[in-house]
Amino acid sequence: MKINKHVIPINVATPAETKVTCESCEACCCRLKVMLITDTGVPNHFIETDEYGSSSMAQLDDGWCAALNRKTMMCMIYENRPLVCREFEMGGDECIDERTANL
Ligand code: SF4
Ligand code: SF4
Repeated sequence: MKINKHVIPINVATPAETKVTCESCEACCCRLKVMLITDTGVPNHFIETDEYGSSSMAQLDDGWCAALNRKTMMCMIYENRPLVCREFEMGGDECIDERTANL
């Protein structure tokens, strides 16, 4: 490709795209119900099991995951977070939905 030396490169991302990061969020997705479908080493005291034997992350009365540090709004078990949390895509449709509903 021929490069025009007089053209100054610019960041072509739109403001809306650049805004979507976990740093500018309030852990909105950590109020969703998180089912445990694989064993990633989540400590037992953060796990709830229903009458059908299904396990999920425990949620506090206000809906937030019990493993969320409320001072830093960071996951306290990041290295052992559930598969669902690992696969939740920052900037994906569900992320945008949660931010739109909660920020
Ligand atoms: S909703 Fe999106 S931006 Fe907010 S914490 Fe979750 S993944 Fe990060
Ligand atoms: S386990 Fe961590 S990343 Fe997953 S919902 Fe709870 S606080 Fe958020």
